[in-house]
Amino acid sequence: MYQAQSHRYEDMQYRRAGKSGLTLSAIGLGLWHNFGSVDVFATQKEILHTAFDAGITYFDLANNYGPEPGSAETNFGKIMHSDFARYRDEMIIATKAGHRMWDGPYGDGGSMKNIMASADQSLQRMQLDYVDIFYSHRPDPDVPVAETAYALDKLVKQGKALYVGISKYNPAQTAAIEDVFKDLHTPYVVHQDRYNLLDRHIENGLLERLAEDQTGLVTFSSLAQGLLTNRYLKGIPADSRAQRSDSPFLHVDRVEQTLAGVKQLKELAQNRGQSLAEMSLAWLLNKPAVTSVLVGASRAAQLTDSLQALKHTDFTTDELGAIDTVLKT
Ligand code: NDP
Repeated sequence: MYQAQSHRYEDMQYRRAGKSGLTLSAIGLGLWHNFGSVDVFATQKEILHTAFDAGITYFDLANNYGPEPGSAETNFGKIMHSDFARYRDEMIIATKAGHRMWDGPYGDGGSMKNIMASADQSLQRMQLDYVDIFYSHRPDPDVPVAETAYALDKLVKQGKALYVGISKYNPAQTAAIEDVFKDLHTPYVVHQDRYNLLDRHIENGLLERLAEDQTGLVTFSSLAQGLLTNRYLKGIPADSRAQRSDSPFLHVDRVEQTLAGVKQLKELAQNRGQSLAEMSLAWLLNKPAVTSVLVGASRAAQLTDSLQALKHTDFTTDELGAIDTVLKT
């Protein structure tokens, strides 16, 4: 039977999400890839054990994670039930609804119908009574923003979620839904978006918005799906995400486009005594707006490497300048 390490809270940092009462581990584990029905179950267990033993409390899922869609929640639920049931109160479990999940007009988007049904399905798959954070996975231009906000608020009132979050909303969309949350007194505490050394689009307005509202930022694809690691430095491994046919957003051409800059970043990381993954995560952890940096892992050793980032998150002005110079070329 799994027994968590007794020293698990010694090396992790916990950060408050904005002005809320919620704290998250500075590094969170994402289950978008590597936890589906096509992946090895024993490896999934090992990754989850490694995460929890290292003080990770934040586990990030969504209704459609797999493949098969839903299977990441099912697998997580099995492991929760067998290994983590007695640790439930030490964990922050998040899920989301908003991307296509089932056939027909109600299996996608930000409507009350989709969100309420999806939440029930997720709880059932994960064998949980509630999740800690329920996210709207994307803004839905076809649904009034107030309806999406009401649905998330209702989940909290029903006891199915403790806090709510939104993902991939731009500053204007964020402002619009926040107004409704304020009226309803919804515990909206986190915003989740893509942010990494190769994708800094949220520096264009969203970061300021979150700082103004004191909302926590959770970063996803923090390692640019593996591009910001040593994974592709010597070619494209057959078992890597860029080669997997079930990986929709990372392809070989993107690896080729970014490789020269990534190699230079690796040199800068080495000068700091870090791996490229460590430096890339440290760069995010150095930002005051960031509450938690989500990482994925296809094996436990990757997670162990990524966790080393916490040991050195300070940057000199020269180091930050050198990184910016590489990124501009
Ligand atoms: P990352 O950018 O962390 O990429 C993870 C991949 O990078 C791994 O699968 C692995 O690739 C490689 N990797 C990770 N660590 C290392 C390491 N130390 N050394 C070498 N290679 C490494 O994250 P994801 O793109 O998976 O996103 C993280 C989480 O964010 C998701 O699981 C999900 O929870 C969330 N997310 C949310 C979205 C949203 O719309 N809200 C969208 C996307 C993600 P390989 O598999 O090739 O070994």
